[in-house]
Formats: sequence, structure tokens, C-alpha cells
Amino acid sequence: MSCEQMYTQVVVIGSGPAGYSAAFRCSDLGLNTILVEKYNSLGGVCLNVGCIPSKFLLHISKVIKESQNLFNLGVTFSQPIIDINKIRQWKDKIVNRLSSSIRSMANKRDVKVISGHAKFLNKNSILVEKENKRMIISFENIILAVGSNTRKLNYVSFDDSRIWNSTTALSLPSIPKNLLIIGSGIIGLEMATVYSTLGSKVDVIDNSHELLSYLDRDVVKMFYDAVKKDFNIFLNSKIEKIISDKKGFLVSRNQNDNIQNAKLYDAVLVSVGRESNLSSLNIDNIGLNINSNGFLEVNEQLRTNVSNIYAIGDVTGQPMLAHKGIYQGHIAAEVISGKNHFFSPYAIPSILYTDPEIAWVGITEKEAIRNNIKYESAVFPWNCLGKAISSNFSCGMTKLIFDPKSKKVIGGSVVGNSAGELLGEIGLAIEMGCDVEDIALTIHAHPTLYESINLSAHVFQGTITDILNLKKNNI
Ligand code: FAD
Repeated sequence: MSCEQMYTQVVVIGSGPAGYSAAFRCSDLGLNTILVEKYNSLGGVCLNVGCIPSKFLLHISKVIKESQNLFNLGVTFSQPIIDINKIRQWKDKIVNRLSSSIRSMANKRDVKVISGHAKFLNKNSILVEKENKRMIISFENIILAVGSNTRKLNYVSFDDSRIWNSTTALSLPSIPKNLLIIGSGIIGLEMATVYSTLGSKVDVIDNSHELLSYLDRDVVKMFYDAVKKDFNIFLNSKIEKIISDKKGFLVSRNQNDNIQNAKLYDAVLVSVGRESNLSSLNIDNIGLNINSNGFLEVNEQLRTNVSNIYAIGDVTGQPMLAHKGIYQGHIAAEVISGKNHFFSPYAIPSILYTDPEIAWVGITEKEAIRNNIKYESAVFPWNCLGKAISSNFSCGMTKLIFDPKSKKVIGGSVVGNSAGELLGEIGLAIEMGCDVEDIALTIHAHPTLYESINLSAHVFQGTITDILNLKKNNI
């Protein structure tokens, strides 16, 4: 078999958000760049089987629920007719459109895209294989952006097409009458939101004793009180036994050490976290440091312990979020081009696109207490917020966390409709070192949801007039 040879300044493996951003930034900085991707469709997990398709399905789910909620306000729609084939076609159209636009941007930037599976030959060359084509690429620097994939459970067989992972769930194989989701993390809860709205009866089980244990309890309580009417969440629970037959899966669940009555499910979605895609890269002889969770160790310049090998995105571990990978991709490219840049953000935002949404950035109260950090918090409840009330958003809150001495914003959490959209201001405030006055004295438009950020700052300052002012005598 013939083997083509190539040489380039930078190779990026993986065309997900981290990889394509790094490759494009490298090229824009004048570096000769090759991007290698094993799948035909560029864009990685995020675009093909992650952020984009899940947010499309969540958008449908949100519109259905909002139209149903209008019933109490005197507007009644008939039951939605769900055509999953058409939904799937539309989802595929969005994915194809975005993926093609990455390819076309690569062409315009002169980034050479090579299709195939890459593995290391040594620290300055890789072998790329696709069907019967082979290519050896030698390089000065390489950026590993190989991402992550779903973790499996040893007691469920993925050979059964009714056992799903997130990729299967996003392909909408059916709308099961009863769906069991194992894992109450972000992806599990988002899929519970989608399928419960499309008509499934959904049970989510998790062996942890706290839902979303990294978030503040008031935030999680507000979320849980709202979603418990849509689907069940059983904590402290594990699967005792799964028996599969033609009818589905008969599942016995152990909750708090008590075996519950077995229940029949038509499909089971396993959503128990993600692991790195390092296993097929042939890195054993390269000597890269891998942490105890199986992710690559990098420094603040995204360099691994091997000086010409960089790593970005999910393969570097938590938080596994597209925007973290994109940011890292830019830094890695800039460092390779000679700039002395660092990946040292004060805060990385996270969003749970459920109904209601939860969005948080910077420090939580829980984290502050755990790390002995002095803090004060201020909350503005959305049941006093004009825009939320007029839009019939029954629950929501905006919470800011301040450093009590400097009065700077160090964190924020928002629960409610479009919470994720409000997070931008809080993230910017943290990065810019804004203090309470910067936010309280900036006029926010009324009525809006983002006005709740300004109102939380007024609560903290003791200048609030929209609700009772508990600090009135101090100011
Ligand atoms: P990936 O997107 O995983 O891309 C890695 C690429 O490398 C893949 O295309 C893979 O084929 C390729 N590759 C791997 N090994 C090789 C090899 N040896 N040779 C050639 N190519 C290789 N994040 C958010 O920020 N917001 C969200 O709303 C969100 N929703 C999500 C919903 C779901 C259902 C899932 C699963 C994830 C979601 N995420 C979300 C996470 C987000 O998708 C990831 O953080 C992001 O895709 C990571 O980007 P990446 O570039 O590091 O890796």
C-alpha cells in the first residue's frame, strides 16, 4: 500500500469546536496547518451529536411547553402532532449546514483537511489511515483535540438497540412510552426534558444522594420543584437487575437499600459521564502525562509535558464544554505562533438547558463555603420581576455572589426561562472585576429578565425598592 508523506508546521487532530478553532487561529496567524478528522462530517461531538442537535430538540420542547402553559391564560392550542421523521430531517439539515460551513471556512483559510484516523508514530509524526489510504504527516507542533465519548456501563449491553447513549437519543429512534435514564447529570436531565415533552414517561435514576451536587441548594430546589411534575428523579438509586425481553426492560431498582417494584421500560438511556478519546492514538511510547481520570495534563499554555504537543478541549478534562475548548484552541494557537498567552479565565459559564434553565458562572455559595472563601450573596426572586410575571414564567431567581470586602462580583447563578442568556452579563462582570456599584448604577432596561441582575445588586447594596429592603437602616 502506498503511503503519502507530508510536512507541516502544525497538525490539529480532531475537528470539534476546540480543534477547528485552533486550526483556524493557527492559519490566521500565518502557520501552515493541517486538520485531521476521522469522520466525514466536521464539527465533532458538539455539532454532530451534542450541543447543536440537543439544543434544537430542547427548542422544540420549550415551544411546546410554552404553548401548553398559555392554557391557563385563556389561549388553547390543540395537542401537537409530533412527526419524528421530519424533526430528524430538520436536525440533520442544521448539522449538515454548520458542518459544511466549517469545511468551507477551512478551504478559505488554506487549512488542509485530511480525513482519517490519526495515531502517533513518534513525537514529530503521525500516521493517518482511511480505508486503504495511508499518509504520514511530520510536524513541528501538534494540537490534540480528540475530545471524549460516552462512558459505558458494564451491566447493560449496547448491542441492544433499545439501550441508548446520548447519540442514540439525539437521533430520535422513537418516542418510548416509558424511558429510563441512568444518570442525572446535565445530558441526562436535558434528554429527560426533551422526551418528557415529546410524550414519554421518564424516570431518571442516579446513585448520588444529591441532585446536581455542585450547585447551591436553593437553586436546585427551585429547579426540582418545577421539573418534578414532568419526570421522576430517583436519587440514592442503583439498578439491581435488568431483564430484557421483547416487551422491553424489566428493571429492579434499589433505592436507599430497598428494592423497589420492578418496572417495565421500552428504552434505557445511559448517561453516566464521558471519557477521553485517547485509547486509539497510540500515545504509549510518547510519554504524555495522563491524570487519574484518564485526561491529558496540560499547563496554562495548553502544553503537555512533551514540549511540541498541546492538548485542548474535552481531552483535557472538566469542564467538558465547547466554549472552554474554543478558548483553549485560540490560546494554544497563539502560544505556538510565539505569543506569551495563557489560559487563566476567572470563570467558565455552564448552562443546563432544561425547563427551567439553570445557569451559573464563577463561584457558588457551596464552593465558597467548602473553600473557606468569605462571601455574601444577594437574590432577586422572579416572582417579583415584571417581565417574568408578564411572561407567565412561574419560577426563577437571580443570585449574585460578592466578595464582602472589595464588593466585587465573584459568582452568579440564575434559574428560569432563558437563564443562560442572562449569564453573559455576570460572566463579563467577573472577568472585568466589576463591583456592586458598577452593576447597580448601570441602567438596565425594564421590563427585562436581565434587569434581575441589577436588582440583585441593589438587594446587596441595600438600595432595592422593588421588594422589601432588609438593609434599609444601614445605608
Ligand atoms: P469533540 O467535539 O469531541 O471533537 C473531537 C473530534 O476528534 C471528533 O470529531 C472525533 O471524531 C475526532 N477524533 C478523535 N480521535 C481521533 C483520531 N485518532 N483521529 C482523527 N480524529 C479523531 N457543551 C456545551 O458547551 N454546551 C452544550 O450545550 C453542550 N451540550 C452537549 C450535549 C450533548 C448530548 C453532549 C454529548 C455534549 C454536549 N456538550 C455541550 C459538550 C460538548 O459537545 C463538548 O464539550 C465539545 O464537543 C468538546 O469539543 P472538543 O473539540 O474537545 O471535542
